Amino acid sequence: MAKQLLGKEVTAALNEKIKANVAELQAKGVDPTLCIIRVGENPSDISYERGATKRCETLGVACEKILLPEDVSQDELLATIDKVNKDDKIHGVLLFRPLPKHLDQAVIENALAAEKDVDCMTDLSMSGVFTGKKIGFPPCTPQACMEILDHYGIDCTGKKAVVIGRSLVVGKPAAMMLVKKNATVTICHTRTVDMPSVAKEADIVIVAAGRAGVVGADYVREGQTIIDVGINVNAEGKLCGDVDYAAVEPIVDAITPVPGGVGSVTTSVLVGHVVEAAMRKAQ
Ligand code: NAD
Repeated sequence: MAKQLLGKEVTAALNEKIKANVAELQAKGVDPTLCIIRVGENPSDISYERGATKRCETLGVACEKILLPEDVSQDELLATIDKVNKDDKIHGVLLFRPLPKHLDQAVIENALAAEKDVDCMTDLSMSGVFTGKKIGFPPCTPQACMEILDHYGIDCTGKKAVVIGRSLVVGKPAAMMLVKKNATVTICHTRTVDMPSVAKEADIVIVAAGRAGVVGADYVREGQTIIDVGINVNAEGKLCGDVDYAAVEPIVDAITPVPGGVGSVTTSVLVGHVVEAAMRKAQ
């Protein structure tokens, strides 16, 4: 049986550090504050917002919300971002994407000040992931994967790692973060030939394809660590990952469940970024 890498254990450890930092800030009269900007009523945005709001409350971080209608104009949204950029009380901003089609997402994303970009929405923040410079913040989901590896003492140095998925939100930054940890990294995607053989070679596999059950028993072997980023709904309406858990878990060394794995860590990473943004500003 594989060791379960549980999000709640990682989150508990992260939350302790965050709470200590919040106490330090509050002693200096600073209230770390996240501002969530939501356009429209997308159910998955609302669900993430609920989780983030709750986590902020638990950790003593203030959370403001700006709710805009689905048909908000480009100018109005840009003016909103300009306002939060200039608001000294707001340390981090989360804007849900994708935005409605009539909005120019690239322009809007890059309007946010990098120092408040707690989920790597701007090109400047993303450049920091590749250059190693401390500009903005790395994306929360791949960082959550690294937090899980760190928490469970899974050393990446000299290890072979495979990332399945090449999105800018998860796959590519996850690969760069693994390189930073001295792993030798391969990125797989829809055009990869013989993915099962490539995945089987790896010691660590991060799966972020967005396809339920894409990784089955033929992808894995004994001794591997599997981090499943996927969030899908299966035929029975239940939440599941990209990994066929029932088939893979008996074979590998360690695996994250879905739900209960990467997702819950992501929210704490986000709140941790807000607190770090406030600390950088206070310095
Ligand atoms: P995406 O659709 O933008 O990218 C998916 C990537 O996987 C693409 O690069 C695509 O080429 C690749 N891919 C798709 N099917 C494949 C296949 N059969 N074989 C190999 N590669 C394949 O998705 P994303 O935003 O990167 O998210 C990936 C998954 O992670 C989704 O299920 C998403 O819901 C989930 N997610 C989870 C969290 C979290 O906090 N746990 C956060 C963000 C995304």
